[in-house]
Formats: sequence, C-alpha cells, structure tokens
Amino acid sequence: MSLQRASFQKCISPECGAMFDLSQTLVACPDCGHLLDICYEWDRLKVPERLDYFEQFWSQRRNPQRFSGVWRFHELLPFTEIGDCLTIGEGQTVLQQADRLANLVGLQPGKLLLQYEGFNPSGSFKDNGMAAALTHASLQGAKFAACASTGNTSASLAMFAAVTAAVKAIVFVGSGKIAYGKLSQALDYGACTIQIEGDFDDAMQRVRQVCPDLGIYLVNSVNPFRLEGQKTIMLRVLEALRWEPPDWIVVPGGNLGNSSSFGKIFGELKMLGLIDRIPRLAVINAEGASTLNHLYNEQHLRWQGGQFSANQMESCLDSLRDSRAAAQTVASAIEINLPVNLAKCLRALEITDGVVRDVSDEEILDHKALIGRHGFGCEPASGASLAGVRKLREEGLISESDRVVCILTGHGLKDPDVTVGYHTNPAWREEKGIGQATSANPPTTVPNEVEQIIAAIRQFH
Ligand SMILES: *Cc1c(COP(=O)(O)O)cnc(C)c1O
Ligand SMILES: [Zn+2]
Repeated sequence: MSLQRASFQKCISPECGAMFDLSQTLVACPDCGHLLDICYEWDRLKVPERLDYFEQFWSQRRNPQRFSGVWRFHELLPFTEIGDCLTIGEGQTVLQQADRLANLVGLQPGKLLLQYEGFNPSGSFKDNGMAAALTHASLQGAKFAACASTGNTSASLAMFAAVTAAVKAIVFVGSGKIAYGKLSQALDYGACTIQIEGDFDDAMQRVRQVCPDLGIYLVNSVNPFRLEGQKTIMLRVLEALRWEPPDWIVVPGGNLGNSSSFGKIFGELKMLGLIDRIPRLAVINAEGASTLNHLYNEQHLRWQGGQFSANQMESCLDSLRDSRAAAQTVASAIEINLPVNLAKCLRALEITDGVVRDVSDEEILDHKALIGRHGFGCEPASGASLAGVRKLREEGLISESDRVVCILTGHGLKDPDVTVGYHTNPAWREEKGIGQATSANPPTTVPNEVEQIIAAIRQFH
C-alpha cells in the first residue's frame, strides 16, 4: 500500500464529488469548478488513537520535520512521506493566557487565550500552509511558484523559496495596498515581484490567468495543500490546552483559508474520535471588506450539507465584481471583497456551528493596541479577532466563563505605519475614520533638558 493511494483530491461539491490523483496540480475541480479538498482513506493509514500521541515528538528537536509545528502532526496530513516534507522551522508559536485583556473584554481570568502565529519564520500564519503547498510543488517538480498577496503570502513564499531553493518565487501584489514590512520581505528575499495597478482581487484574477499557461505552481489558498498545513494551527492550540477543545475560536476572515481549514480539521478529529466536542468558530470581517458577513447574516446563505445555493453566492460575487467596489479597510491583510474559499468557509461554519461578524477599522485598531499593550502585539487584521470577541461578549453569545482563543495571524512589526499613525497622528486617524483612538500612547516631545525630561516621566506615571 502506498501513501499516495490512501490520499487524493476530491471536489467539495457532493453533487460532483470528482476525485483526482495527488500528482495533479489543480486549484479547482476540472469538472464543475468548485474547490478541492485533500482527502484520506484513514483506515488505510496509521492514525493515532489519542492526540497525546504527538507529545513524543517534543523530544525530537534534531529531526527537522518533527521540530516543525506543522509536520509534527504528519499523521493528520499524511499526503506524502514525512521525509519529503519541506520545512523552515515553521509553527513554533505561543498560546498566551491574557488575563488583563480578558477582564477588559468581559471574560473571566484564564478564559482568553491568544495564539501568536506572528512567531512564524516570516511573521505570519501563512508559513503553516506554505510548508505543505511547497512540499507538494517540489514533489511535482515545479520550478516556479506564484501567488497574489496582500503581503503575507508573498513574504512566506519568498522566504521558503530563499531558504529551501525548492522553487523560484513570483509574487503579485496590488499597488499602494501592501504594508511595507511585507513588501520589504518579498524584495529582500529575492522574489520576482510584480506590482499590479489594482488591488488584491485584481492581482488574484491575473495570477490565476497566468499560472496555467506558464506552468507555474499557484500557492494561494485555493491550493488545497495550503489548507492542510493550516490545520495544524488548531492542533497546536489543542496541544497547549492539553488536548481539551476550547469553547470558541475567533479568527479574522480574508480569503477564508484559515477558517476553512479549522473547520476541516475539527470535522476530521471528531470523525476519528480524537475529540468529543467541536469549538464554535467566529469569523470576523472588516466592515469595509465584509462579503462573508453580508452573505451569511443578510442573505442567510448556508452550506446545507453541500446543497448551498451556488447561484446566490455567484450572483453576489458578480455584483461586487461588476460594481468594481474595492474593499476598503486599514487591515490590509483582510482587504478582500471576493474571498476565494467562500464555499469551504460556509462548510466550516456548519461543522462548527459558527458565527460571522464585522467590525469597524476603529474597533480593529483600538483592539490591536490593547493586544499590543498586554502582550506581544499583532498586525491590524489580527486585532479584528479581539474586537470580535468584545462584540460577541456584548451580545451575550460568548459568556464570561467561555474559553476563547483568538488567532493573532500576523506579527506587530509587519505594518508599523499603521501602528505609528494610530498612536501619534490625529490627521492620519481622521483620514482613516478612526475616532477617539482610546488606546493611543503618543510620545511626549520635550526639549533636550534634564528637568523637562524628568517632569515628562513623572507625568507619565
Ligand atoms: C492572510 C491573512 C489573514 C486572512 O486569512 P484568510 O485565511 O485569508 O482568511 C488575516 N491576517 C493576516 C495577518 C494574514 O496574513
Ligand atoms: Zn466538481
């Protein structure tokens, strides 16, 4: 029995259900156009009986694959032999208990936990998925890999390409829409960087056009292998909680790759009998990029076991496309109007009895600043998760005794312009529609005189 044959690609539409060998490089079902999953015949594979099986690998730091926070869980994403798996040391993340923050958003001590995915090598959770996608790319002998990106996917691809030399990286970014921390990474790591006149959604459309013709491997989250890697974020959360599922997972929603992969792994773990309860998922949009919120809460679009109305979804996306209404939020990582994983996210919301909310840029930045003040900090998009917790807490949907995990998707140093603008610049805040900036911590400017410096310090205390 070869591993290759116990795993395969499968169309997510139950009506179609077409299956494809792993050796095919696909980002959509050739028969019907829906997204694809990586599926496993679990009874032909070595599946652990309990999740604490994975603890044995904590002592194997010299084995690069078992050191990886992704491949440590290889048995739950076994699409190839573990020896083939590419790694740059991704997934060394921290789940931090944040009691003072819990208090501020109305949760009991011990009930708010922050999953810092910014501690990945390239500074965002994208490295989890990139490890898996580039493993598949190199198995296929791909020479070039490309993505459209709001910044972090390109930073991750560029870094993996530079460290492993498995592929050459080509990244498509929109103009004026990318945080400098992220753009600087793509440039510094030597990626071929194509800056398109347009936004992420335009870049996404173009990269999908160009890749098949040039035989370039596409690593956006339409790539089903990406999502296999991202499943391990949830496995590390469970690991840090001694394998006991929390009540809520709260995550910002952009292209909806994370939320989709979280739903997939929880469905798999439950089916395999490795957990007995599935956490509820809350996906948080920015108000200026809230397609999912619109479809889920206003149009009441649901997965319905795969019988969802593809027409309703497509007509909403078409009208967004036609109106040329560009997404608009200070959280550039989620500034996306046409999320590519919409259908999979609807499925994840069904599996997890999930909810969707949207939050304003002001809420996003106030909560980003609170996270910074109480922890390691995060980039703007990640702040949406805590803003979402506050909203759901105020609605009473999350109770004060619920255990809540916020996914902090990217590092605070990714987007210093926004952070400095928020803390120091009223004109910038006004331009961005940020009102009070209740958590701003501006510097005190003083003359170069010791008395005045001392006075300023006394005043701060
Ligand atoms: C990519 C990204 C997101 C959006 O994640 P999706 O999986 O596309 O929904 C959110 N935050 C950060 C920092 C990101 O890089
Ligand atoms: Zn299909």
